[in-house]
Amino acid sequence: MSIRRVVVLGAGSAGLMAALTLKRRLPHLEVSIVRSPDLGIIGVGEGTTLAFPRHFFDYLKLKPGQFFAQAEPTWKLGIRFLWGSRREFYYTFAYEFQQRLPELGRNNGFFFDGDAPWAGPVSAFIAQNRAFPRRPDGQPLFHNSHAYHIENRNLAAWLESVCRTLGIGIVDATVTAERGPEGIAALVTPAGERITADLFVDASGFRSELLGRSLAEPFISYSDTLFCDRAVIGGWPRTTEPIKPYTTVETMDSGWCWQIEHENFINRGYVYSSNFISDEDALAEFLRKNPQVATTPRVVKFRSGRYARNWVGNVVGVGNAVGFVEPLEATALQVICVEASTLADSLVDCLGAPTPTLIELYNRYNAQAWDDIRDFLAVHYKFNRRVDTPFWRACNNDTPLHGAQFLVDFYRENGPSVVAGAQLLHPSNSFGMDGYLAMLVGQDVPHAKPYSPSSAELRVWRDRQAKWSAEAQRGLDVKQCLAAVRGGALPWGKP
Ligand SMILES: Cc1cc2nc3c(=O)[nH]c(=O)nc-3n(C[C@H](O)[C@H](O)[C@H](O)COP(=O)(O)OP(=O)(O)OC[C@H]3O[C@@H](n4cnc5c(N)ncnc54)[C@H](O)[C@@H]3O)c2cc1C
Repeated sequence: MSIRRVVVLGAGSAGLMAALTLKRRLPHLEVSIVRSPDLGIIGVGEGTTLAFPRHFFDYLKLKPGQFFAQAEPTWKLGIRFLWGSRREFYYTFAYEFQQRLPELGRNNGFFFDGDAPWAGPVSAFIAQNRAFPRRPDGQPLFHNSHAYHIENRNLAAWLESVCRTLGIGIVDATVTAERGPEGIAALVTPAGERITADLFVDASGFRSELLGRSLAEPFISYSDTLFCDRAVIGGWPRTTEPIKPYTTVETMDSGWCWQIEHENFINRGYVYSSNFISDEDALAEFLRKNPQVATTPRVVKFRSGRYARNWVGNVVGVGNAVGFVEPLEATALQVICVEASTLADSLVDCLGAPTPTLIELYNRYNAQAWDDIRDFLAVHYKFNRRVDTPFWRACNNDTPLHGAQFLVDFYRENGPSVVAGAQLLHPSNSFGMDGYLAMLVGQDVPHAKPYSPSSAELRVWRDRQAKWSAEAQRGLDVKQCLAAVRGGALPWGKP
Protein backbone atom coordinates (compact mmCIF):
# COMPACT_ATOMS: atom_id res chain seq x y z
CA MET A 1 0.00 0.00 0.00
CA SER A 2 1.46 3.38 -0.97
CA ILE A 3 -0.57 6.29 0.29
CA ARG A 4 -0.98 9.43 -1.77
CA ARG A 5 -4.71 10.11 -1.61
CA VAL A 6 -6.57 10.28 1.71
CA VAL A 7 -10.33 10.75 2.12
CA VAL A 8 -11.65 11.68 5.53
CA LEU A 9 -15.27 10.72 6.24
CA GLY A 10 -16.72 13.31 8.60
CA ALA A 11 -16.20 16.97 9.42
CA GLY A 12 -16.73 17.05 13.16
CA SER A 13 -13.73 18.00 15.26
CA ALA A 14 -12.16 14.59 14.59
CA GLY A 15 -12.37 14.71 10.79
CA LEU A 16 -11.20 18.31 10.52
CA MET A 17 -8.34 17.78 12.97
CA ALA A 18 -7.20 14.58 11.23
CA ALA A 19 -7.36 16.17 7.76
CA LEU A 20 -5.44 19.29 8.67
CA THR A 21 -2.84 17.34 10.66
CA LEU A 22 -2.14 15.04 7.72
CA LYS A 23 -2.00 17.87 5.19
CA ARG A 24 0.20 20.04 7.38
CA ARG A 25 2.68 17.25 8.12
CA LEU A 26 2.59 15.63 4.65
CA PRO A 27 1.83 18.47 2.21
CA HIS A 28 2.28 16.19 -0.83
CA LEU A 29 -0.77 14.12 0.23
CA GLU A 30 -4.06 14.77 -1.51
CA VAL A 31 -6.49 15.13 1.38
CA SER A 32 -10.23 15.71 1.09
CA ILE A 33 -13.22 15.50 3.40
CA VAL A 34 -16.71 14.08 2.81
CA ARG A 35 -19.39 15.15 5.26
CA SER A 36 -23.12 14.76 5.54
CA PRO A 37 -25.13 18.00 5.61
CA ASP A 38 -28.10 15.95 6.84
CA LEU A 39 -26.43 14.16 9.74
CA GLY A 40 -24.46 17.19 10.97
CA ILE A 41 -21.97 16.97 13.84
CA ILE A 42 -22.40 16.04 17.50
CA GLY A 43 -21.64 19.64 18.47
CA VAL A 44 -20.21 18.99 21.94
CA GLY A 45 -16.61 18.94 23.14
CA GLU A 46 -15.65 22.29 24.58
CA GLY A 47 -13.08 21.49 27.26
CA THR A 48 -9.52 20.62 26.25
CA THR A 49 -6.29 19.47 27.88
CA LEU A 50 -2.65 20.44 27.47
CA ALA A 51 -2.46 18.19 24.39
CA PHE A 52 -4.59 20.65 22.43
CA PRO A 53 -2.30 23.71 22.36
CA ARG A 54 0.75 21.47 22.09
CA HIS A 55 -0.70 19.77 19.03
CA PHE A 56 -1.68 22.92 17.17
CA PHE A 57 1.02 25.38 18.19
CA ASP A 58 4.09 23.23 18.97
CA TYR A 59 3.59 20.24 16.70
CA LEU A 60 1.74 21.77 13.72
CA LYS A 61 3.03 25.31 14.28
CA LEU A 62 -0.28 26.98 13.47
CA LYS A 63 -0.72 30.63 14.32
CA PRO A 64 -2.20 31.30 17.78
CA GLY A 65 -3.36 34.73 16.57
CA GLN A 66 -5.78 33.25 14.04
CA PHE A 67 -6.95 30.71 16.61
CA PHE A 68 -7.72 33.44 19.16
CA ALA A 69 -9.49 35.60 16.59
CA GLN A 70 -11.70 32.83 15.18
CA ALA A 71 -12.17 30.27 17.96
CA GLU A 72 -12.45 32.87 20.77
CA PRO A 73 -11.19 30.53 23.50
CA THR A 74 -10.84 31.18 27.19
CA TRP A 75 -8.13 29.59 29.34
CA LYS A 76 -8.47 26.43 31.37
CA LEU A 77 -5.84 25.91 34.08
CA GLY A 78 -7.45 22.68 35.23
CA ILE A 79 -10.56 21.33 36.93
CA ARG A 80 -12.15 22.39 40.18
CA PHE A 81 -13.64 19.24 41.69
CA LEU A 82 -16.64 19.44 44.00
CA TRP A 83 -16.09 15.78 44.62
CA GLY A 84 -15.02 13.42 47.40
CA SER A 85 -15.18 14.23 51.11
CA ARG A 86 -13.23 17.52 50.95
CA ARG A 87 -15.03 20.79 50.22
CA GLU A 88 -13.12 21.05 46.91
CA PHE A 89 -9.80 20.24 45.26
CA TYR A 90 -8.10 21.04 41.95
CA TYR A 91 -6.61 19.02 39.13
CA THR A 92 -4.13 21.14 37.16
CA PHE A 93 -1.86 20.62 34.17
CA ALA A 94 1.19 21.45 36.35
CA TYR A 95 3.11 18.98 38.53
CA GLU A 96 2.20 20.15 42.00
CA PHE A 97 1.64 17.13 44.24
CA GLN A 98 4.97 15.55 43.30
CA GLN A 99 6.97 18.73 43.95
CA ARG A 100 9.07 18.92 47.10
CA LEU A 101 9.98 22.26 48.59
CA PRO A 102 13.72 22.30 49.38
CA GLU A 103 13.03 23.08 53.05
CA LEU A 104 10.69 20.10 53.48
CA GLY A 105 11.45 16.41 53.83
CA ARG A 106 8.54 15.12 51.76
CA ASN A 107 6.67 16.09 48.59
CA ASN A 108 3.66 18.41 48.61
CA GLY A 109 1.16 15.54 48.47
CA PHE A 110 2.01 14.67 52.09
CA PHE A 111 1.27 18.23 53.27
CA PHE A 112 -1.96 18.88 51.40
CA ASP A 113 -4.87 18.72 53.82
CA GLY A 114 -7.59 20.52 51.87
CA ASP A 115 -7.98 23.45 54.31
CA ALA A 116 -6.35 25.66 51.74
CA PRO A 117 -7.05 23.56 48.66
CA TRP A 118 -4.02 24.49 46.54
CA ALA A 119 -0.87 22.39 46.28
CA GLY A 120 1.18 24.76 44.14
CA PRO A 121 1.23 28.05 42.25
CA VAL A 122 -1.14 27.10 39.41
CA SER A 123 -3.87 25.72 41.68
CA ALA A 124 -3.53 28.88 43.80
CA PHE A 125 -4.56 30.80 40.66
CA ILE A 126 -7.63 28.56 40.34
CA ALA A 127 -8.51 29.28 43.97
CA GLN A 128 -8.26 33.02 43.32
CA ASN A 129 -10.07 32.99 39.94
CA ARG A 130 -6.99 34.42 38.25
CA ALA A 131 -5.59 33.15 34.96
CA PHE A 132 -1.97 34.30 34.71
CA PRO A 133 0.64 36.24 36.71
CA ARG A 134 1.05 39.94 36.02
CA ARG A 135 4.37 41.06 34.54
CA PRO A 136 5.96 44.30 35.79
CA ASP A 137 4.52 46.08 32.70
CA GLY A 138 1.01 44.90 33.61
CA GLN A 139 0.78 42.35 30.77
CA PRO A 140 0.00 38.67 31.45
CA LEU A 141 2.93 36.33 31.94
CA PHE A 142 1.63 33.40 29.89
CA HIS A 143 2.93 29.98 30.86
CA ASN A 144 2.12 26.78 29.01
CA SER A 145 0.43 24.80 31.80
CA HIS A 146 -2.98 25.58 30.39
CA ALA A 147 -5.60 24.36 27.93
CA TYR A 148 -8.72 26.07 26.57
CA HIS A 149 -12.49 26.21 26.70
CA ILE A 150 -13.84 26.69 23.17
CA GLU A 151 -17.46 26.88 22.01
CA ASN A 152 -17.88 23.91 19.71
CA ARG A 153 -19.23 25.87 16.73
CA ASN A 154 -16.26 28.29 16.97
CA LEU A 155 -13.83 25.39 17.15
CA ALA A 156 -15.40 23.75 14.10
CA ALA A 157 -15.37 27.05 12.18
CA TRP A 158 -11.68 27.66 12.96
CA LEU A 159 -10.71 24.09 12.05
CA GLU A 160 -12.66 24.31 8.79
CA SER A 161 -11.02 27.58 7.84
CA VAL A 162 -7.55 26.09 8.48
CA CYS A 163 -8.50 23.09 6.32
CA ARG A 164 -9.60 25.35 3.49
CA THR A 165 -6.41 27.44 3.77
CA LEU A 166 -4.39 24.25 3.43
CA GLY A 167 -6.27 23.36 0.24
CA ILE A 168 -8.34 20.51 1.67
CA GLY A 169 -11.54 20.09 -0.35
CA ILE A 170 -14.85 19.43 1.43
CA VAL A 171 -17.63 17.49 -0.33
CA ASP A 172 -21.17 17.55 1.06
CA ALA A 173 -22.84 14.15 0.63
CA THR A 174 -24.27 11.40 2.80
CA VAL A 175 -22.34 8.40 1.55
CA THR A 176 -22.47 4.65 1.85
CA ALA A 177 -19.40 2.43 1.94
CA GLU A 178 -18.48 -0.08 -0.76
CA ARG A 179 -16.33 -2.95 0.52
CA GLY A 180 -13.15 -3.95 -1.31
CA PRO A 181 -10.20 -6.32 -0.87
CA GLU A 182 -8.19 -3.77 1.21
CA GLY A 183 -11.20 -2.91 3.35
CA ILE A 184 -13.12 -0.07 1.71
CA ALA A 185 -13.15 0.32 -2.08
CA ALA A 186 -15.11 3.59 -2.26
CA LEU A 187 -17.57 5.94 -0.61
CA VAL A 188 -20.64 6.19 -2.79
CA THR A 189 -22.73 9.36 -2.98
CA PRO A 190 -26.55 9.32 -3.47
CA ALA A 191 -25.90 10.33 -7.11
CA GLY A 192 -23.81 7.18 -7.53
CA GLU A 193 -20.42 8.88 -7.63
CA ARG A 194 -17.63 6.66 -6.24
CA ILE A 195 -15.03 8.44 -4.10
CA THR A 196 -11.87 6.35 -3.91
CA ALA A 197 -8.69 6.71 -1.85
CA ASP A 198 -5.55 4.89 -0.77
CA LEU A 199 -6.51 5.49 2.84
CA PHE A 200 -9.90 6.30 4.38
CA VAL A 201 -10.02 8.07 7.72
CA ASP A 202 -13.25 7.16 9.48
CA ALA A 203 -14.28 10.24 11.46
CA SER A 204 -18.01 9.56 11.14
CA GLY A 205 -18.70 9.91 14.86
CA PHE A 206 -20.70 7.35 16.81
CA ARG A 207 -22.08 5.97 13.53
CA SER A 208 -18.62 4.53 12.79
CA GLU A 209 -19.64 3.95 9.19
CA LEU A 210 -16.42 2.28 8.06
CA LEU A 211 -14.70 0.74 11.07
CA GLY A 212 -17.82 -0.40 12.90
CA ARG A 213 -20.60 -0.81 10.34
CA SER A 214 -18.66 -1.88 7.24
CA LEU A 215 -15.64 -3.68 8.63
CA ALA A 216 -17.42 -4.98 11.75
CA GLU A 217 -14.41 -4.41 13.99
CA PRO A 218 -15.24 -5.76 17.49
CA PHE A 219 -16.24 -3.15 20.08
CA ILE A 220 -14.77 -3.31 23.58
CA SER A 221 -17.20 -1.78 26.04
CA TYR A 222 -16.05 0.12 29.14
CA SER A 223 -19.48 -0.13 30.73
CA ASP A 224 -18.24 -2.48 33.48
CA THR A 225 -16.21 0.50 34.76
CA LEU A 226 -17.98 3.63 33.57
CA PHE A 227 -21.72 3.53 34.14
CA CYS A 228 -22.73 6.86 32.58
CA ASP A 229 -24.22 6.84 29.08
CA ARG A 230 -26.11 10.14 28.65
CA ALA A 231 -25.79 13.85 29.20
CA VAL A 232 -28.38 16.60 29.39
CA ILE A 233 -26.84 19.85 28.19
CA GLY A 234 -27.92 23.48 28.52
CA GLY A 235 -26.56 26.88 29.39
CA TRP A 236 -27.13 30.61 29.60
CA PRO A 237 -25.59 33.83 28.33
CA ARG A 238 -23.06 35.25 30.76
CA THR A 239 -24.10 38.44 32.51
CA THR A 240 -22.10 39.51 35.56
CA GLU A 241 -20.51 36.15 36.44
CA PRO A 242 -16.69 36.26 36.42
CA ILE A 243 -15.09 34.02 33.76
CA LYS A 244 -13.43 31.26 35.73
CA PRO A 245 -10.10 29.91 34.46
CA TYR A 246 -11.12 26.30 35.02
CA THR A 247 -13.85 23.74 34.40
CA THR A 248 -16.01 22.94 37.40
CA VAL A 249 -16.99 19.32 37.93
CA GLU A 250 -19.72 18.77 40.48
CA THR A 251 -21.18 15.59 41.98
CA MET A 252 -24.86 14.94 41.15
CA ASP A 253 -27.18 12.19 42.40
CA SER A 254 -26.65 9.83 39.46
CA GLY A 255 -23.51 11.24 37.86
CA TRP A 256 -21.88 14.64 37.67
CA CYS A 257 -22.25 18.07 36.11
CA TRP A 258 -19.70 20.15 34.22
CA GLN A 259 -19.54 23.93 33.99
CA ILE A 260 -17.51 25.21 31.05
CA GLU A 261 -16.65 28.89 30.92
CA HIS A 262 -16.91 30.71 27.60
CA GLU A 263 -16.48 34.42 27.30
CA ASN A 264 -20.17 35.10 26.69
CA PHE A 265 -21.82 31.82 27.59
CA ILE A 266 -21.83 29.34 30.45
CA ASN A 267 -22.30 25.72 29.41
CA ARG A 268 -23.56 23.08 31.84
CA GLY A 269 -24.01 19.36 31.29
CA TYR A 270 -25.25 16.61 33.60
CA VAL A 271 -23.62 13.28 32.70
CA TYR A 272 -25.66 10.41 34.13
CA SER A 273 -26.40 6.73 33.96
CA SER A 274 -29.72 5.74 32.41
CA ASN A 275 -29.68 2.63 34.62
CA PHE A 276 -30.05 4.85 37.68
CA ILE A 277 -32.13 7.83 36.57
CA SER A 278 -34.64 8.55 33.81
CA ASP A 279 -34.12 11.36 31.29
CA GLU A 280 -37.03 13.28 32.88
CA ASP A 281 -35.63 13.01 36.41
CA ALA A 282 -32.13 13.90 35.19
CA LEU A 283 -33.52 16.98 33.46
CA ALA A 284 -35.42 17.94 36.61
CA GLU A 285 -32.29 17.59 38.79
CA PHE A 286 -30.26 19.52 36.20
CA LEU A 287 -32.76 22.38 36.19
CA ARG A 288 -33.02 22.44 39.99
CA LYS A 289 -29.26 22.87 40.10
CA ASN A 290 -29.21 25.35 37.21
CA PRO A 291 -32.43 27.38 37.18
CA GLN A 292 -30.71 29.98 34.96
CA VAL A 293 -30.56 27.60 31.96
CA ALA A 294 -31.90 29.62 29.03
CA THR A 295 -31.33 27.24 26.10
CA THR A 296 -33.58 24.25 25.46
CA PRO A 297 -31.78 21.37 27.19
CA ARG A 298 -30.91 18.48 24.88
CA VAL A 299 -30.04 14.89 25.74
CA VAL A 300 -26.96 13.33 24.10
CA LYS A 301 -26.52 9.55 24.28
CA PHE A 302 -23.12 7.92 24.18
CA ARG A 303 -21.52 4.56 24.78
CA SER A 304 -18.22 4.21 26.53
CA GLY A 305 -15.64 1.95 24.93
CA ARG A 306 -13.46 1.55 21.88
CA TYR A 307 -13.12 -0.60 18.80
CA ALA A 308 -10.38 -3.20 19.16
CA ARG A 309 -8.20 -1.57 16.51
CA ASN A 310 -8.04 1.97 15.11
CA TRP A 311 -6.35 0.92 11.87
CA VAL A 312 -7.88 -1.95 9.89
CA GLY A 313 -6.89 -2.52 6.24
CA ASN A 314 -7.12 0.83 4.47
CA VAL A 315 -9.25 2.45 7.21
CA VAL A 316 -8.04 4.43 10.22
CA GLY A 317 -10.65 5.55 12.74
CA VAL A 318 -10.34 8.79 14.71
CA GLY A 319 -12.57 10.40 17.34
CA ASN A 320 -15.95 8.99 18.28
CA ALA A 321 -15.86 6.64 15.27
CA VAL A 322 -13.27 4.57 17.09
CA GLY A 323 -14.01 5.23 20.73
CA PHE A 324 -15.28 7.44 23.47
CA VAL A 325 -14.70 7.23 27.18
CA GLU A 326 -16.79 9.98 28.74
CA PRO A 327 -16.51 13.75 29.22
CA LEU A 328 -15.04 13.74 32.75
CA GLU A 329 -11.46 15.13 32.28
CA ALA A 330 -12.44 16.29 28.74
CA THR A 331 -10.02 13.98 26.95
CA ALA A 332 -11.69 13.25 23.58
CA LEU A 333 -10.03 16.09 21.67
CA GLN A 334 -6.73 15.05 23.27
CA VAL A 335 -7.15 11.52 21.91
CA ILE A 336 -7.91 12.93 18.46
CA CYS A 337 -4.64 14.92 18.64
CA VAL A 338 -2.78 11.70 19.51
CA GLU A 339 -4.55 9.63 16.84
CA ALA A 340 -3.91 12.25 14.17
CA SER A 341 -0.29 12.99 15.08
CA THR A 342 0.69 9.33 15.42
CA LEU A 343 -0.92 8.62 12.04
CA ALA A 344 0.94 11.52 10.42
CA ASP A 345 4.23 10.51 12.07
CA SER A 346 3.74 6.91 10.98
CA LEU A 347 3.15 7.94 7.36
CA VAL A 348 6.18 10.24 7.42
CA ASP A 349 8.33 7.50 8.89
CA CYS A 350 7.30 4.75 6.45
CA LEU A 351 7.48 7.06 3.41
CA GLY A 352 3.78 6.46 2.78
CA ALA A 353 4.06 2.66 2.70
CA PRO A 354 2.98 1.35 6.11
CA THR A 355 4.13 -2.10 7.18
CA PRO A 356 2.08 -4.60 9.25
CA THR A 357 4.24 -4.04 12.33
CA LEU A 358 3.88 -0.26 12.04
CA ILE A 359 0.10 -0.65 11.86
CA GLU A 360 0.17 -3.04 14.82
CA LEU A 361 2.25 -0.54 16.81
CA TYR A 362 -0.16 2.27 15.92
CA ASN A 363 -3.07 0.17 17.13
CA ARG A 364 -1.37 -0.80 20.38
CA TYR A 365 -0.39 2.78 21.16
CA ASN A 366 -3.84 4.21 20.55
CA ALA A 367 -5.64 1.38 22.36
CA GLN A 368 -3.42 2.10 25.34
CA ALA A 369 -4.31 5.79 25.20
CA TRP A 370 -8.03 4.93 25.40
CA ASP A 371 -7.56 2.38 28.19
CA ASP A 372 -5.43 4.83 30.18
CA ILE A 373 -8.36 7.24 30.26
CA ARG A 374 -10.79 4.54 31.40
CA ASP A 375 -8.39 3.56 34.21
CA PHE A 376 -7.90 7.13 35.38
CA LEU A 377 -11.63 7.83 35.37
CA ALA A 378 -12.25 4.62 37.31
CA VAL A 379 -10.32 6.23 40.19
CA HIS A 380 -12.67 9.23 40.06
CA TYR A 381 -15.78 7.08 40.38
CA LYS A 382 -14.48 4.47 42.81
CA PHE A 383 -13.49 6.95 45.50
CA ASN A 384 -16.04 9.75 45.27
CA ARG A 385 -18.01 9.38 48.50
CA ARG A 386 -19.58 12.81 48.48
CA VAL A 387 -23.19 11.67 48.23
CA ASP A 388 -24.82 8.41 49.24
CA THR A 389 -27.15 7.40 46.39
CA PRO A 390 -27.68 4.07 44.59
CA PHE A 391 -25.53 5.32 41.68
CA TRP A 392 -22.60 6.33 43.86
CA ARG A 393 -22.87 3.21 46.05
CA ALA A 394 -22.60 1.13 42.87
CA CYS A 395 -19.58 3.18 41.73
CA ASN A 396 -17.86 2.85 45.11
CA ASN A 397 -18.52 -0.89 45.36
CA ASP A 398 -18.44 -2.16 41.80
CA THR A 399 -15.88 -0.12 39.82
CA PRO A 400 -12.90 -2.24 38.75
CA LEU A 401 -9.67 -0.25 38.53
CA HIS A 402 -8.12 -2.28 35.70
CA GLY A 403 -4.70 -0.81 34.86
CA ALA A 404 -4.82 1.59 37.83
CA GLN A 405 -5.16 -1.18 40.43
CA PHE A 406 -1.46 -1.56 41.27
CA LEU A 407 -0.89 2.19 41.45
CA VAL A 408 -3.82 2.51 43.87
CA ASP A 409 -2.55 -0.47 45.94
CA PHE A 410 0.82 1.23 46.11
CA TYR A 411 -0.79 4.49 47.19
CA ARG A 412 -2.81 2.77 49.91
CA GLU A 413 0.36 1.28 51.40
CA ASN A 414 2.76 4.17 50.82
CA GLY A 415 0.71 7.36 50.54
CA PRO A 416 1.51 10.04 47.92
CA SER A 417 5.12 8.86 47.66
CA VAL A 418 6.92 9.73 44.45
CA VAL A 419 9.72 7.24 44.87
CA ALA A 420 8.25 4.81 42.34
CA GLY A 421 6.41 7.21 40.00
CA ALA A 422 8.29 6.15 36.89
CA GLN A 423 7.59 2.46 37.60
CA LEU A 424 3.88 2.83 38.22
CA LEU A 425 2.86 4.34 34.88
CA HIS A 426 4.20 3.92 31.38
CA PRO A 427 5.92 7.05 30.01
CA SER A 428 3.16 8.03 27.57
CA ASN A 429 0.40 8.04 30.22
CA SER A 430 -1.01 11.52 29.71
CA PHE A 431 -2.18 12.06 33.31
CA GLY A 432 1.12 11.13 34.89
CA MET A 433 1.73 10.43 38.55
CA ASP A 434 0.74 13.98 39.43
CA GLY A 435 -2.70 13.56 37.89
CA TYR A 436 -3.25 10.41 39.92
CA LEU A 437 -1.99 12.09 43.10
CA ALA A 438 -4.34 15.03 42.55
CA MET A 439 -7.28 12.60 42.44
CA LEU A 440 -6.14 10.28 45.25
CA VAL A 441 -5.05 13.01 47.66
CA GLY A 442 -7.87 15.28 46.52
CA GLN A 443 -10.53 12.66 47.22
CA ASP A 444 -8.80 11.88 50.52
CA VAL A 445 -8.37 8.20 49.72
CA PRO A 446 -7.11 6.65 52.98
CA HIS A 447 -3.56 5.29 53.10
CA ALA A 448 -1.31 3.63 55.66
CA LYS A 449 1.47 6.25 55.75
CA PRO A 450 0.05 9.60 56.89
CA TYR A 451 2.82 12.05 57.62
CA SER A 452 2.79 14.21 60.74
CA PRO A 453 4.95 17.22 59.92
CA SER A 454 6.77 19.08 62.69
CA SER A 455 5.34 22.49 63.56
CA ALA A 456 8.36 24.07 61.82
CA GLU A 457 7.60 22.14 58.62
CA LEU A 458 3.96 23.02 58.84
CA ARG A 459 4.86 26.70 59.16
CA VAL A 460 7.02 26.48 56.02
CA TRP A 461 4.17 24.81 54.11
CA ARG A 462 1.54 27.32 55.23
CA ASP A 463 3.88 30.25 54.47
CA ARG A 464 4.45 28.89 50.99
CA GLN A 465 0.74 28.38 50.37
CA ALA A 466 0.14 31.98 51.53
CA LYS A 467 2.85 33.19 49.13
CA TRP A 468 1.34 31.32 46.17
CA SER A 469 -2.05 32.73 47.06
CA ALA A 470 -0.72 36.30 47.33
CA GLU A 471 0.96 35.94 43.92
CA ALA A 472 -2.30 34.68 42.46
CA GLN A 473 -4.25 37.59 43.92
CA ARG A 474 -1.88 39.98 42.11
CA GLY A 475 -2.52 38.08 38.84
CA LEU A 476 -4.85 38.90 35.94
CA ASP A 477 -8.27 37.36 35.49
CA VAL A 478 -9.57 35.87 32.23
CA LYS A 479 -11.25 39.08 31.12
CA GLN A 480 -8.05 41.09 31.60
CA CYS A 481 -6.04 38.43 29.74
CA LEU A 482 -8.52 38.45 26.82
CA ALA A 483 -8.15 42.22 26.62
CA ALA A 484 -4.36 41.80 26.56
CA VAL A 485 -4.60 39.25 23.72
CA ARG A 486 -6.81 41.63 21.74
CA GLY A 487 -4.14 44.23 22.32
CA GLY A 488 -1.48 41.95 20.80
CA ALA A 489 -0.14 39.80 23.68
CA LEU A 490 -0.26 36.10 22.80
CA PRO A 491 0.59 32.81 24.46
CA TRP A 492 2.22 30.04 22.43
CA GLY A 493 4.42 32.19 20.25
CA LYS A 494 3.93 34.99 17.78
CA PRO A 495 0.72 35.59 15.78
C1 LIG B 1 -21.80 14.69 26.31
C2 LIG B 1 -20.46 14.84 25.68
C3 LIG B 1 -19.58 15.83 26.12
C4 LIG B 1 -18.31 15.95 25.57
N1 LIG B 1 -17.44 16.89 26.04
C5 LIG B 1 -16.17 16.91 25.59
C6 LIG B 1 -15.21 17.82 26.09
O1 LIG B 1 -15.50 18.66 26.93
N2 LIG B 1 -13.96 17.77 25.60
C7 LIG B 1 -13.59 16.89 24.64
O2 LIG B 1 -12.42 16.85 24.26
N3 LIG B 1 -14.49 16.06 24.09
C8 LIG B 1 -15.75 16.03 24.55
N4 LIG B 1 -16.66 15.18 23.99
C9 LIG B 1 -16.29 14.39 22.82
C10 LIG B 1 -16.30 15.24 21.57
O3 LIG B 1 -17.50 15.91 21.40
C11 LIG B 1 -16.03 14.44 20.34
O4 LIG B 1 -15.04 13.50 20.59
C12 LIG B 1 -15.60 15.34 19.22
O5 LIG B 1 -16.57 16.35 19.00
C13 LIG B 1 -15.38 14.59 17.97
O6 LIG B 1 -16.58 14.17 17.39
P1 LIG B 1 -16.45 13.45 16.00
O7 LIG B 1 -15.84 14.40 15.04
O8 LIG B 1 -15.77 12.15 16.22
O9 LIG B 1 -17.96 13.12 15.62
P2 LIG B 1 -19.17 14.08 15.01
O10 LIG B 1 -19.05 15.49 15.52
O11 LIG B 1 -20.38 13.33 15.31
O12 LIG B 1 -18.85 14.11 13.47
C14 LIG B 1 -19.20 13.04 12.62
C15 LIG B 1 -19.11 13.50 11.17
O13 LIG B 1 -19.28 12.39 10.32
C16 LIG B 1 -20.24 12.74 9.33
N5 LIG B 1 -20.90 11.52 8.85
C17 LIG B 1 -21.34 10.47 9.58
N6 LIG B 1 -21.87 9.54 8.78
C18 LIG B 1 -21.75 10.01 7.51
C19 LIG B 1 -22.09 9.51 6.22
N7 LIG B 1 -22.69 8.33 6.06
N8 LIG B 1 -21.81 10.26 5.14
C20 LIG B 1 -21.19 11.47 5.26
N9 LIG B 1 -20.84 11.97 6.44
C21 LIG B 1 -21.11 11.25 7.55
C22 LIG B 1 -21.17 13.72 10.02
O14 LIG B 1 -21.92 14.48 9.12
C23 LIG B 1 -20.13 14.54 10.79
O15 LIG B 1 -19.57 15.51 9.92
C24 LIG B 1 -17.93 15.06 24.53
C25 LIG B 1 -18.82 14.10 24.07
C26 LIG B 1 -20.07 13.97 24.64
C27 LIG B 1 -20.98 12.90 24.13
